[in-house]
Amino acid sequence: MEFGVVRKDVETAARVGRLSTAHGSFDTPVFMPVGTAGSVKTLSPRDLVELGAGIILGNTYHLYLRPGHERVRRLGGLHRFMSWGGSVLTDSGGFQAFSLGSAREHGVGKIGVFPGRPLDNPLSANVVDICPVGALTSTRFRFAERVWYLDKKPSLCTGCDVGCNVTIEHRRGRIRRYKPRLNPEVNDHWLCDFGRTTAERYDELPRLLAPRIRKDGTDNDLIECAVENLLRLKAGHCFLIVMRGAFPINVLNSVKDCREVTHVFCATANPVQVVLAASEQGRGILGVIDGSSPKGIELDTDITQRKKFLRDIGYKR
Ligand code: SF4
Repeated sequence: MEFGVVRKDVETAARVGRLSTAHGSFDTPVFMPVGTAGSVKTLSPRDLVELGAGIILGNTYHLYLRPGHERVRRLGGLHRFMSWGGSVLTDSGGFQAFSLGSAREHGVGKIGVFPGRPLDNPLSANVVDICPVGALTSTRFRFAERVWYLDKKPSLCTGCDVGCNVTIEHRRGRIRRYKPRLNPEVNDHWLCDFGRTTAERYDELPRLLAPRIRKDGTDNDLIECAVENLLRLKAGHCFLIVMRGAFPINVLNSVKDCREVTHVFCATANPVQVVLAASEQGRGILGVIDGSSPKGIELDTDITQRKKFLRDIGYKR
């Protein structure tokens, strides 16, 4: 078989090629009449010659099913069987074994699982990614989007602390699917089924679309106080802890040990004012005014009074 370029367009990349096989030559690009199972429906071989067809298509898998490769061989091979002297392109047909599910009603086989061996392990959905022709698809994603419209962002799966590398494919503010992103050190080419369905769980979490104030505690009045102040602050990701009958300074180290805390603005019993900044995204805390401005310099009597006060309230002994 030989191929050569016979003409090129000087302004574009367009070109005409010529492919020569043992059964003749034809120019490319070429329209190939489809003779899947050994005949081009409604046309005779002579019609094809008169139409100038240089090559026609066949399908190995369909020919294997019907009329069967033994019969084709017995009748002199595919060219004699089709009465066609020109070139024939047959694809291997191997992938049709996977992709012909929709043709089952026509008596053609369908890919399935081995009898008694269901595909139900925690990594089963990876078959979607290793199917060579994209014939195996996920039930959730199937026909949900045209893949070429999807935007892609590299990210990490948040399903557990393994942190598998993923590509998030999304459109119009909705995550449509997670695909594994190669990282030989972490997840190689794979994702577990739980991680792969993270996108579905995100759909069910309203707080991702609208941030919420989370509350917790043992005293309803203090919870209410914290919520009320957070609603007034309207600041992004921040924590407010309200205490009664306790010293904020005593819990400070525990608060600092919390991995999500990057900055502590104050731990105080003073009146506090919060300095905020606002942008088109939202509001954030820049700092606080903790207590009031000094009214003078501490005297000996003030020191005595301060220490007595701290002993009286139980802060110092
Ligand atoms: S894909 Fe699975 S193993 Fe990997 S981070 Fe997500 S949940 Fe964890």
